[in-house]
Amino acid sequence: MPSPSYLQPLVAPLRFLAQSDFARLSTVKGLDRLVKTALEAARAARSGGDVQLLERVAQALERGGAESPQEALRALAPRVREAEASSRAPDAARPPTTAPRQEVQGGPRPTSTRAAPSPTSARSSLTAESRSTDASRRSGAARQPPETADAAVPSGTTSSGTAGGSARRKKARAQGSLLDEPRPDRRKARSARASPEPEVEEVARPIAAAPRQGPLSQPIGGSGIRVPPRLVEGLNKKGLERVGDLLFLLPRTYEDRRRLSTLRELRPGERGVAVGTVRMARDLMIRPGKRGFQAVLADETGSIALTWFQSGPWMRSRVPVGKRLIVSGELRATPGGREMVHPEIEPADEGSGPSLHTGRIVPVYPGFERHEQRQVRALVARVAAMHLGAVEDPLPEELRRRLALPSLGEALARIHQPAADDDLASLEDHRSPAHRRLAFDELFLLHLGMALRRQGVKHEPGIAFQVDGDRLANARALLPFTLTRAQARAVAEIGRDMARPEPMHRLLQGDVGSGKTAVAAVAAALAVEDGWQVALMAPTEILAAQHHATFARVLGKAGVEVTLVTGSGTGSEKRRAREAVESGRARIVVGTQALIQEGIAFEKLGLVLIDEQHRFGVLQRQALGHKGRRPDVLVMTATPIPRTLAMTLYGDLDLSVLDELPPGRTPITTRVATANRQPEVWEAVELELRKGRQAYVLYPLVEASEKIDLADATRGAEELQARWSHRRVQLLHGRLKQEEKDAVMAAFRRGEVDVVVCTTVVEVGVDVANASVMVIQNAERFGLSQLHQLRGRVGRGAAASFCYLLPSFASGPDARVRLEVLEQSTDGFVIAEKDLELRGPGEFLGTRQSGLPELSVANLARDQALSAVAAEEAKAIAASDPRLTRPEHRGLLRALEERWEGRLSLAQVG
Ligand code: ADP
Ligand code: MG
Repeated sequence: MPSPSYLQPLVAPLRFLAQSDFARLSTVKGLDRLVKTALEAARAARSGGDVQLLERVAQALERGGAESPQEALRALAPRVREAEASSRAPDAARPPTTAPRQEVQGGPRPTSTRAAPSPTSARSSLTAESRSTDASRRSGAARQPPETADAAVPSGTTSSGTAGGSARRKKARAQGSLLDEPRPDRRKARSARASPEPEVEEVARPIAAAPRQGPLSQPIGGSGIRVPPRLVEGLNKKGLERVGDLLFLLPRTYEDRRRLSTLRELRPGERGVAVGTVRMARDLMIRPGKRGFQAVLADETGSIALTWFQSGPWMRSRVPVGKRLIVSGELRATPGGREMVHPEIEPADEGSGPSLHTGRIVPVYPGFERHEQRQVRALVARVAAMHLGAVEDPLPEELRRRLALPSLGEALARIHQPAADDDLASLEDHRSPAHRRLAFDELFLLHLGMALRRQGVKHEPGIAFQVDGDRLANARALLPFTLTRAQARAVAEIGRDMARPEPMHRLLQGDVGSGKTAVAAVAAALAVEDGWQVALMAPTEILAAQHHATFARVLGKAGVEVTLVTGSGTGSEKRRAREAVESGRARIVVGTQALIQEGIAFEKLGLVLIDEQHRFGVLQRQALGHKGRRPDVLVMTATPIPRTLAMTLYGDLDLSVLDELPPGRTPITTRVATANRQPEVWEAVELELRKGRQAYVLYPLVEASEKIDLADATRGAEELQARWSHRRVQLLHGRLKQEEKDAVMAAFRRGEVDVVVCTTVVEVGVDVANASVMVIQNAERFGLSQLHQLRGRVGRGAAASFCYLLPSFASGPDARVRLEVLEQSTDGFVIAEKDLELRGPGEFLGTRQSGLPELSVANLARDQALSAVAAEEAKAIAASDPRLTRPEHRGLLRALEERWEGRLSLAQVG
């Protein structure tokens, strides 16, 4: 796979974004510009696959795009990573034509090594271009006498007024020295570059646990600490308004200043902290009207240049000749000498002992420029000194001691001012004991909220259905098969719940095809038998239609009317359906989200069934619950959610698991096929078709790139029809009218269509036993769990069945490795765990999942063990003191209210 240079500028921002599961998108400014530039280049290079990927991202980034930018970026990421990898490889192999370190450090300045790229960083074509112009410019400059200093500053130049070649040379050097990856702290520098770079800018956001009441809620300016009004203003602009916001502002990273390097010890390509004296300072002409600033910093071992590409009159006062400064930043070895671009500078303390800023590990705060760090650090330290005593620890003392957690005050103090012997790496990874404590709080309050919510719900009176052995037997007898043991167990649990006066809140979790729908049908029959209405909500219209058919088949035998309510259909159809629901004629109502939209009132809703729960947020679930008087709720999920995550997401639900498939299934054989193996895939499909079986060919479809995706699917259908002219190939996608979709699916079910080429509208739940093979195009664009669900559409009968995953040609090796998990396992739980591990919870759950408090320090994938402990402790407290009335729980109650921002309706519990 060739690695086009236009992807290079995306490497660093995507790497940065990937760290947060693409959640911190808003922190990268200018990404759209960058993507557009790459897109144009990809178009010019006629790289169809890249054009497609980049177009998706561009569209998603535009406001109003329906696909989330995160998803589009996720699809692009493997490709960019690949570009990154292949750009490194050749560089590493290249002989070191670049100025080696020693040469740069000491001896005469090399003059003609400029054309070779430095091995340390990935380059974009744009920077490569500037590099070559650079080289040509520099050839003129090469005749300059070698400098005496090893810093990249020509001796004796003092002002920006230097004329002609010299100024150009400086400009050239200014660009050359920036030939590296964008860094958050290099923001300003980028304006001097030819290539558009995004401005990576983290948001200064206190972790969600910052108290909203009490002494810590006083405004920063009025807290007894004198803060310059301009600073207050600046902080407020970043959303830091209260004292607590500063205390709970989690450092982005840390810098090890326990030992300062000598200038000679600084290594090119590495960050370092050193101290030295300013020997020379001057303005730099970047271009007419734009000034930079450069200084030489020296100690007894050598000197380096400090370069800023944006400057103002303040620079001279900040970097006066003769001043001792601490500088920190990444050292670059340029042929012009060693330099730091936009270093963080701080005046060196006159005393030699350790201070807040030196001789220790210092925090680096998000949302602030490097040169602002000192001021913020000092302010946070003052606030901490004054207010940490007022920090109330929400955790009961006993719990804290038992788990050996530091107090909240101690943890906060340590986070802002680590001890000398703290482990730098664990601080940076937010894994230090202090960070663990904060993470525990987040998880604990999350679980406690869940546990209380569940109890709160439980304590409200609901419906006690009449469920007895006869009714159960009758309901089960409606099914054309015997329940599996797992199904029987689930039915018994559900029956027991339904008979109780408290509302049922149960999650029915089971792999695709494990028979959840059958269990739900039994529950529905029980409710209907007792005179109640049942609502079933499905995520897609096709799935709703299928459930409608299933329920009508199963319960129709008992004379029950089953109605379908969806967003589509004519006005009069909708009116008729609504009327049937309101009058109570329809006993079972199947629908999509349309069910929770207004206008539908039930006559007597008693049971709510929700399929594929994870697509609906917790809040939507509640909305449907409110349509009745606390109906029983059964949530079915086909995504086997890893245990810890399930506890977090569904902590307010009881759990039934179907861990057994109905008899007579043969496992699906899954293969990942690369481009050159595709002919074999189509032959294998043809083989199945010849046996009279049917096939799915699936294309991912996301709305933002709908046109492209649809075009793909359409073209795919045409190609297959051309290949198999004697077969019936049908296209099915979301843009079709409901009747058309229904017609295609019905024909497929009747066996009148051999191959259905579809976008993911068909996604889950479609049940055609004769379909034995599925081909999934651009498979890397799906999550593993989603793929696992999709392939569950085949293998529903006894015939051996197959699933072929075809990654798009633009996907990288990572994608392949990920997809191979599906070759190896058919266990939905194993796959879900893997998926979670590989993609992180944000992606695993999809971006829409919400209704839960945010986690800033804790990471559900990484902190599973901690989360389990937190859940257990939370459960114990919820059980022993459900109203949190004990004095030792008072702090918890307050913290919960703040954390959940009222979503818990704690009024009910406390
Ligand atoms: P899920 O909803 O978990 O994906 P379904 O309830 O749709 O699974 O069941 C998948 C298929 O298996 C359906 O065709 C269904 O009729 C069949 N099925 C379900 N339970 C049994 C059973 N106990 N014995 C035989 N077939 C079953
Ligand atoms: Mg199902």
